[in-house]
Amino acid sequence: MSARAGGVVTAWAEEGLDALKARGLRRYLEPLDSAQGPLVRLGGETLVNFASNDYLGLAASPTVRAAAAAALEAHGVGSGASRLVVGDTSVHQRLEARLAAFEHAEAVLLFNSGYAANVGTLQALVGPEDAVFSDALNHASLIDGCRLSRARTVVYPHSDVEALERALASTPARRRLVVTDTVFSMDGDLAPLRDIVQVCQAHGAALLVDEAHATGVLGERGAGLCEALGLEEAVDVRMGTLSKSLGGLGAYIAASRPVVDFVLQRARPLVYSTALPAALCAAAEAAVDIVERDDALRARLWRNIHRFSKGLRELGFAAEPRSAVFPVIVGEPERAVAASQALRSRGLLVKAIRPPTVPEGTSRLRFCLSAAHTEGQLDLALAALRALNL
Ligand SMILES: *Cc1c(COP(=O)(O)O)cnc(C)c1O
Repeated sequence: MSARAGGVVTAWAEEGLDALKARGLRRYLEPLDSAQGPLVRLGGETLVNFASNDYLGLAASPTVRAAAAAALEAHGVGSGASRLVVGDTSVHQRLEARLAAFEHAEAVLLFNSGYAANVGTLQALVGPEDAVFSDALNHASLIDGCRLSRARTVVYPHSDVEALERALASTPARRRLVVTDTVFSMDGDLAPLRDIVQVCQAHGAALLVDEAHATGVLGERGAGLCEALGLEEAVDVRMGTLSKSLGGLGAYIAASRPVVDFVLQRARPLVYSTALPAALCAAAEAAVDIVERDDALRARLWRNIHRFSKGLRELGFAAEPRSAVFPVIVGEPERAVAASQALRSRGLLVKAIRPPTVPEGTSRLRFCLSAAHTEGQLDLALAALRALNL
């Protein structure tokens, strides 16, 4: 047996784990024995996967894999340093140009993850003399970006544009920045983006939106909610991920050239972190090509979204077809875990989402749909939900 280090810290950890367990909030890792896809191998079982954000089924796409493999051969695995040192390659530059065309943006800047993009961009753009206005249900990475920026943070009630307007009217600051998810990650609802843009313009505030769950899902080209509403130019900074619909890892902001140039100077998660491997950039480039070219994929996802939301409504749940994320709220964490386990025994992988990811009392099952799901798989999930009688 290997020696155990750090008795003091171990006691802290055991105390923390016990407290989480007592409240039904302890989480565990579960290693997959397959690639992502509508069916996954887990713990010796084959399960229908409703837990992944691989909305278009591109994570294991042969075309995307081949692009990654070719770049892996040419550039090796690691990128060696941050992009500002020696980690930049022509593959990174090509992907940024490709994403800028996809987003109809002047410029794009890559980050190693959506988390890093949000934290780094907020920290680069605003500081202690500034104010950030943040939706109450924004993703944790935006919340952490507010913290790292040390700007005054005003949290407004979820999607409440009037409250946002009041907050803007009563909070002077050197710079003011409104931040919101476009598709909220735990509820699947959409931000009232047209109204938010209007309020920002009326009050001279800038706007940063997080399109993590919208990229590849919304808009004719699949560029997100801004594209769907024709607001690409009205939003100052649009953040998208390479890790959800695009099936890989990494993220980007789309903005004006000066914003991109400035964030590159200042964003600590970029300046002080090793660059994305070229293989992941090549994978994302291939995935963007598919997303833009193959609208049959998005059409299939939307057919699934409509079928599943109709089925949920027939079971008495409020479920609008707005995005690929469908929450089924069950209340207490233990109930959500029990429901998730019951679905598992019927061959379905559906995660229980608990505090602190969602507010107390709103623990839920979260269904994430994919273009790769068959109608039969969706109907299996609906039948299992009916049997649960929640
Ligand atoms: C997943 C997610 C992120 C983080 O993206 P990663 O690439 O996984 O780090 C950021 N914002 C939202 C809304 C997300 O759902």
